[in-house]
Amino acid sequence: MLNADCLFCKIINGDIPSQKVYENDYCFAFRDINPQAPVHILVVPKDHIESADMVKFNNSFYVAKIFEAIPSIAKAEGLKNGYRVITNCGEDACQTVKHLHFHILGGEKMAEKMC
Ligand code: 5GP
Ligand code: ZN
Repeated sequence: MLNADCLFCKIINGDIPSQKVYENDYCFAFRDINPQAPVHILVVPKDHIESADMVKFNNSFYVAKIFEAIPSIAKAEGLKNGYRVITNCGEDACQTVKHLHFHILGGEKMAEKMC
């Protein structure tokens, strides 16, 4: 179920415009508004799950569906040489939007260190 007060739910619903790159019944992918790599895409479930910390037995299929979609998104973006998938969860990880999302970052060689 979507949440009327949530930025990414509004993007999924088309109430806020985005640059969509992929969509199916379970997930929606769009370009990050402030890209941190030549390719920076966000993939979100079509359900208001707050973060990775709220993934449970009854909603984990959204995560599986997202990870099924990621290789085709990466291929369409030309990420032949690899890419990084990140989810920030909670305050210490600096999660700013409280709707589970996976960043796909690529298009250049990234630093080995992740934080
Ligand atoms: P977080 O910091 O929560 O892991 O990531 C949130 C991401 O959402 C950030 O990379 C930020 O640039 C992106 N973002 C925030 N607001 C918008 C928006 O309105 N549209 C798009 N496309 N991305 C957004
Ligand atoms: Zn939401």
